[in-house]
Amino acid sequence: VTSVDKVCARFRIEGRRVTPQRRAIVQVLLKEDAHLTADQILTQVRRQLPSISPATVYNTLHELTEMGLVQELDLGLGLEERRYDVGVEKHDHIVCISCGRIEDVPLRDGLNLPVDEYHNFKIVDRRVTYLGLCPDCASNSEAQ
Ligand SMILES: [Zn+2]
Ligand SMILES: [Zn+2]
Repeated sequence: VTSVDKVCARFRIEGRRVTPQRRAIVQVLLKEDAHLTADQILTQVRRQLPSISPATVYNTLHELTEMGLVQELDLGLGLEERRYDVGVEKHDHIVCISCGRIEDVPLRDGLNLPVDEYHNFKIVDRRVTYLGLCPDCASNSEAQ
């Protein structure tokens, strides 16, 4: 489990400054643990630091992603809908196509591509997103 202090220690190791803004952003990411969009993170951070600029939030998210502390998720829902995931043990996701709820699921090695389908690529990573209806949305659609 990652803590705010651990992330801040990584900032220092990488020669980056630990500002109150960065600390607040990391706090939000860890507290919410909820695949927030950049705009949702901005809204939360502004409760603590009302004057923080969107650029500071976006840049910090980018830095955290580069440092491998945060995973930027493109779940195929559009650019505005990119989510940020902290404490990244690698995992896959299930997304509700109706309400956008996102849950973590463990990686399944069984879904790896057979080597003869690599097209001679050197594979470095893989993203799997399962799409479906969450229990709430499934029961709503049955009720109609
Ligand atoms: Zn749903
Ligand atoms: Zn996740």
